[in-house]
Amino acid sequence: MKISVLTIFPEMVEVIKKYGVISRAVQENKIEINIFNLRDFTSDKHRTVDDYPFGGGPGMVMKPEPFFMFYDFYVQTFGKPHTILTSPQGRTFNNDLVKELSLKENLLIICGRYEGIDERVMELVDDEISIGDYVLTGGELPAMVMIDAISRFVPGIISEESVIEESFNTGLLDHPHYTRPREFDGRKVPEVLLEGNHEKIELWRRKMSLKKTIKRRPDLFLKKEFDEVDKMALLELFKELINNVK
Ligand code: SAM
Repeated sequence: MKISVLTIFPEMVEVIKKYGVISRAVQENKIEINIFNLRDFTSDKHRTVDDYPFGGGPGMVMKPEPFFMFYDFYVQTFGKPHTILTSPQGRTFNNDLVKELSLKENLLIICGRYEGIDERVMELVDDEISIGDYVLTGGELPAMVMIDAISRFVPGIISEESVIEESFNTGLLDHPHYTRPREFDGRKVPEVLLEGNHEKIELWRRKMSLKKTIKRRPDLFLKKEFDEVDKMALLELFKELINNVK
């Protein structure tokens, strides 16, 4: 999979390639990340990318010409991409969208700055995506969030088992995790995890996931389609509740 980013701050985005899972995936050619400087597609000596807004108002607006010049270069070099504009006005980034985007072969993410981008650039955009209901100073952090989340679904980057079991993918939040030592300053790891009974462990983990989801994200719980393990775990939770009431 190829992910490209267009930004006026390439150094800011470059760091995504340097650490952890993404760095390994890039080195092993499982994912290709290309970062382009919008200023390289300007034609004046000051490499200008912004100008005053028509109609007045605060702030500057990103000029259309460098985007169109870049896009022509990009399509000729790499073929037509699925183009995302980072924008607080877009649809909200979530797990379903991450999965959908991870199936694209050639993704281009455009980072806005200033008050935003000249509306005519929308002609090049397939998707406007927001990472949440707040306004950031630029699209670089959203682009990095998207690359990080999407990469995890690209086959071979992390184990399929990890992806399947994680928060949101099962429709529930993740269960608690423990590692050594078994006891730390009197804080013990739950006994069930030490007994080696895999069915019991699965049931305990599901109970914990269900409890956490009901408490923190009832909206997810109400949408969840329950499998057999969910039903058994819910039954146990109800029994515990009834016994406590008595
Ligand atoms: N005037 C714009 C508005 O009110 O919608 C905000 C512009 S913001 C200061 C500059 C750039 O940051 C945007 O063009 C976009 O690329 C990026 N940005 C800001 N908040 C974002 C968010 N929540 N999600 C994705 N991108 C965002």
